[in-house]
Order: sequence, then structure tokens, then C-alpha cells
Amino acid sequence: MTATAATVLEKPTDRLELLAQTLFRPMGADGVYARTGLYEGVVDALAAMITRYRHPRAEVFRFPPVMSRKMIETSGYLKSFPNLLGCMCCLQGSEGEIRETVNRFVEGDPWTDDLTAGDLVLTPASCYPVYPIAAARGPVPSEGLLFDVACDCFRREPSKDIDRMQSFRMREYVCIGRPEQIQAFREDWIERAKGIADRLTLPYTVDLANDPFFGRGGQLMAVSQIQQALKFELLIPVMSEEKPTACMSFNYHQDHFGEVWGLHGADGALSHTGCVAFGMDRLAVAMFATHGLDVDAWPASVRGALGI
Ligand code: 5GP
Ligand code: ZN
Repeated sequence: MTATAATVLEKPTDRLELLAQTLFRPMGADGVYARTGLYEGVVDALAAMITRYRHPRAEVFRFPPVMSRKMIETSGYLKSFPNLLGCMCCLQGSEGEIRETVNRFVEGDPWTDDLTAGDLVLTPASCYPVYPIAAARGPVPSEGLLFDVACDCFRREPSKDIDRMQSFRMREYVCIGRPEQIQAFREDWIERAKGIADRLTLPYTVDLANDPFFGRGGQLMAVSQIQQALKFELLIPVMSEEKPTACMSFNYHQDHFGEVWGLHGADGALSHTGCVAFGMDRLAVAMFATHGLDVDAWPASVRGALGI
């Protein structure tokens, strides 16, 4: 590389542009990308590494990118993040009605007003579908329940930043049980996650965090979430040191999901839940942002940890 090119690439926007152009291809919408083989190789290696940390008792589920609208309504998502939810809609009606709509489109007229909300939403986090599955089994056993879940997630947050996608992959370990079991699960996972970041030689901090609850009422929920230390994040400087990116989160939901899904122990006490979430796309982007685009030139210890 010439000195001039190197100087140019030191500018943060160019560094991020080069990352974006090498790892992704545009698909006509901000935050929705085609992923290159180079990038997917690292996503796969990260996923395999996370699997090696799976508890032997954890039950595996892989969910589709959509889930029942009824379930997301029950879970309380609309109270907290209505602005982020994507809802599937489609053309319903007789053949004649649908043909009329298509004709409008063919004539170059607006057609989307004819769409009707369907019974599916785009899954906003990979743990939502697991709670009703667990609840359907009856009382939670005294040792608690552990799950390994993942799916493509959607959040309506269009952005040109490569660490903020509308469609991204989330992997989670979920724990259902008594409050002290969830606290221990979360504390253990914060330490384990630091170990993962160390092995990947990723610079990080772990900090208290809040979810982006909607509206003015949401600000109170965010303050209360911080005060009760319900959410921690592992942050990695991807875009900048000043605004590091949350690549993993460690969440304690108290009895929220226990209450909405009727999860309880054999003694009848409401179950508590917690999850550790790995943002697979953010972690992969963080790897390239930290170690560069030439995977073969990454430190041997990092490649060893990833098994590549
Ligand atoms: P949370 O439910 O804590 O907001 O999200 C869990 C994890 O998913 C985050 O720590 C992050 O790694 C990932 N995530 C959340 N929002 C986005 C996003 O907009 N883009 C990407 N790529 N990952 C996200
Ligand atoms: Zn979760």
C-alpha cells in the first residue's frame, strides 16, 4: 500500500467504508446486507466457539426469522419497543381483489395500502419464542432450565453504520429458574464472556446498560433498569473509542416472562429468567475492525481460539 493510501485509510470513515465494502454487498436498504464468504467464515467460527461454551444440559433450538404476532403481543414487546417491531403483511382476499392490487402496481400506482397485517412478526430477539415452549412443559425443575437459541432478528432501525443492522443474527443462552440461579448464571456468563473477548484479543469494557425503551415513559423504565442493574453489555470499540458497540448483553428479566407465560417452579413460585445474547454480526464486524481484513494475518492465538 502506498503512503498516500495508508494516510487516507487512517481516516475513520474510510476505514469503516473499506470494512463495509469488503465484508458486505448492498441489498438496496440500509442495514440489510449480503454477506461475503470471508465474513461468514468468521461468523461460523465464532458460532462454533460459542457452542464450545454450551452447558451440557442446555437444550438447543434454532428459530425461524418470524414468530407468532400473538406471542410477541403477550410478551409485552409492544409496550417497550413498538417502534422497532416489524410485522408481516400480505395481500388477502379473493383472486379478483388481489388481481386488482397487482394491476394497480403494474399501472405504476400505489398498491401497498391493500396489504393487511398478518399473524406473524419478524422476531426481534432470539429468546422470545423459548419461554412459551418452556411454559408448555409444566413446572420448571429445581435445577432450572437452560437453552441455546438463535435466529435472524429484525429491528426497524435503518442506519448506514455497519454495527447497526435491521437484519442481524443473534445467539443466546437462556436460563429459567429461581432468582439466585439466574443471578449466578449471569455472573458466570459475564466472566466467561470476558474470557472469550480476551482469547479473541478484542478490546472491551463491561458496563451497566439500558434497553432503548420507547418514548417518555420509556425513559423511566430505562432509569429503573439501570438502578436495578438488570442489563450489562460487553462493549467493543468498532466505530470509535468514544462510542463503543454493544456486542454481547447479559440480561435479567426478573419474573416478567414468568408472569406473562405462567412459568413457575414446583412450589408455585413464579420463575425468573435471564439471557446472555451474542450479536453474531457485531462480533464478526468487531473482529475485522480489530484485527484487519486479512484473516490469515490475524494473531495465531486468535486463529487458534477460532479454530481457523
Ligand atoms: P439486546 O437485546 O441486548 O438489545 O441485543 C442483543 C445483542 O444483539 C446486542 O448485544 C448486539 O450484539 C446485537 N444487536 C442488537 N441490535 C443490533 C443491531 O442493530 N445490529 C447488529 N448487528 N446487532 C445488534
Ligand atoms: Zn434474550
